[in-house]
Amino acid sequence: MTFNDFELHESLQMGLNDIGYSEPTPIQQQSIPEALHGKDILGAAQTGTGKTGAFVIPIIELILRNPAQGTKALILSPTRELAQQIDEQIFALGYHSGISSATIIGGEDFSRQADAIRAGVDIIVATPGRLIDQMKVLDVDFSNINFLVLDEADRMLDMGFLPDVNHIIDKLPKKRHTMLFSATMPKELQKLMRSVMKDPVKIEIEVSTTSKQVDQRAYFAPPRKKLGAVQYVLDNLDWSSCIVFSATKKGTNELERLLNQKGIKAGSIHGDRTQDERTASLRAFKNGAVPVIVATDVLARGIDIDNVSLIVNYDVPKAVEDYIHRIGRTGRYDKEGIAVTLVSKADQKFFDPIKKKVGDDLKVLELPDEKAEAEKSGKSAQSSKGNKKVEVKLKEKRQSGKSTSKKKDEKSEKAVDSKPINLEKETVKISTSKEGKVIIELKGKPKPEPGKENKQKPSKKASGKKVEVKLKKEKDPKKEKPKQNQKKKAAIRKDFEAPERIGKATERKQTVRKPSKGMWGLIKSFIPKFGK
Ligand code: AMP
Repeated sequence: MTFNDFELHESLQMGLNDIGYSEPTPIQQQSIPEALHGKDILGAAQTGTGKTGAFVIPIIELILRNPAQGTKALILSPTRELAQQIDEQIFALGYHSGISSATIIGGEDFSRQADAIRAGVDIIVATPGRLIDQMKVLDVDFSNINFLVLDEADRMLDMGFLPDVNHIIDKLPKKRHTMLFSATMPKELQKLMRSVMKDPVKIEIEVSTTSKQVDQRAYFAPPRKKLGAVQYVLDNLDWSSCIVFSATKKGTNELERLLNQKGIKAGSIHGDRTQDERTASLRAFKNGAVPVIVATDVLARGIDIDNVSLIVNYDVPKAVEDYIHRIGRTGRYDKEGIAVTLVSKADQKFFDPIKKKVGDDLKVLELPDEKAEAEKSGKSAQSSKGNKKVEVKLKEKRQSGKSTSKKKDEKSEKAVDSKPINLEKETVKISTSKEGKVIIELKGKPKPEPGKENKQKPSKKASGKKVEVKLKKEKDPKKEKPKQNQKKKAAIRKDFEAPERIGKATERKQTVRKPSKGMWGLIKSFIPKFGK
C-alpha cells in the first residue's frame, strides 16, 4: 500500500514526499481511510508507530477537500513538547497546501498566541491548561471546528487535565469528527470516550508491548553504583544519542551535573525549566550538540526525536506503561535501539512487573564488578596466585559494528582479552610504570606445556626477568565517546532544529514560500511597511 491509494490532494502528497513517507505505517493504513470517511477513531497505538500522521494526514486532506474560514481542527496534547512536535508535522506536511497552524502552550508568549487564535489559523495544537487560560480572556471562536483530536488521552488524565478537557469540549460544536489516542483506557477515559465519540472505529496496534527493535537490558546496581553504571553503559555500548530518565526533577539536575563533571556532555529537561530552557535543551539534543539529555517523564511520551539510540532508566519507572513509553523513545518505526534499566533493591518491586510483562526480551545482566572495572581501566592488574595463574585483563572489546545486534552485544558483555600464564613457582610482582605500562616480574620457571616438557626452552623473559606488558593506552571513554559522537552528529545535522526530514521542508518553507494567511500573515501585518 502507498499513500497514492488514499487519493490525497496533490499538495499533501508533495508534503509526504518531502518528509520521506512513502508507505503508510499500519496505524496510518487503518485510520486514514476511516477518518476520510468521517468516522470517529479510537486509536490504541504505541508511540513510534506513526500515530501523529494517522490523524494529521486525514485532517489536512479533509480541510483541503472542504475549504472554510476559521479554525477547523483542535488537537489537545498533554505536554508542550508533544504539541510542538505535532505542529512540526503539520507544518511539514501542509507546506505545499498553505495550511496554517499554531501551538497554544504554556511558557510561550501569550499575546502572540491570542493573535493566532483571533486570526483563525486552520489548526490549533494546544495543551489544555493554556487553552483554558486563553479562553478566559478571549472569546475563542470554536464554531468552525470539525475535528477534535485528544492525543495521549491517558496522559492528560494522569496529569489532571480531564476537567479542562471536558470544559473545552463543552464549547465545541457537537457535530464534528473526534479522534482519541491513548495507550491505556482507564474507567474515567472510557466515560469520556463514550460521551465525546459516536460509534468509534477501534484501531489497536500492538498496545502495551515493547518494540522488538529495542535491545532491552537490566543491570542490578545499588544507588551508590548507579552513576558508575551509567558511565559503564555509555562507555561500552554503541550509541549516538542517549536519554537518561530520572524519577525526579532534583535527580535530573544532579545527574546532569555529575555527567558533565565526568566529561560527558549532557543537558536536561523537566517541568521546572522555563519553556525557553526546555526548547534550548531539546534543540541542542536534537541537532547533536549535546549527545545526552537527562529528563523526567516529560520526554517519555510522544516526543519524536530522530535516532535516539540509547535509553537509560536511571530509576525504574513505577508503572509498566511508563517503562514502555520511556523505551519507546528508541527503536522507533524502522530503527533499532538499546534500553538499559538500572535496578536497585528498592526498585525491585517496580521492576518485577516490568520483567513479567516484557519477558525474555528484557535480559537481566550483571555489571562487571569493581575489580574487573579497575582492571579494565588499566590502573592495576590482579594476580590470582592460588592456582598459579596470572591473568592480565586488557580491555573489554568494543563492538565495532551495530551494537543493536543482540548476539554481538551479549558477547561484548563477556568478551575479555585474557592471557593466562602458568608458572611452576608462584612469585609474581606486578607494578605500573609512569607511562602506563604494566610490569610483571615473574620469579619462577614457566610450567612447560604438556608434551613439550623437555623440548621447550624456558622463555628468558619469564625466568626471573621483567615482562613489560604495554597496555594499549585506553582512551578516556568519559571524554572521548561523547566528543566523537558530537562531532559526527554535528557534522551531519548541524543546521537542523527539527527532525531532519521535517527540517528539510521547514527550510524550504522559510526560503521558498510564504503563506499569505495564518501566522505569517499575522507577523507580516506587524512589520512596518517602509517607503509607504
Ligand atoms: P509518531 O508515532 O507519530 O511519533 O512517529 C514516529 C516516527 O515515525 C516519526 O519519526 C515519524 O516521522 C515517522 N513516520 C511516521 N509515519 C511514517 C511513514 N509513513 N513513513 C516513514 N516514517 C514515518
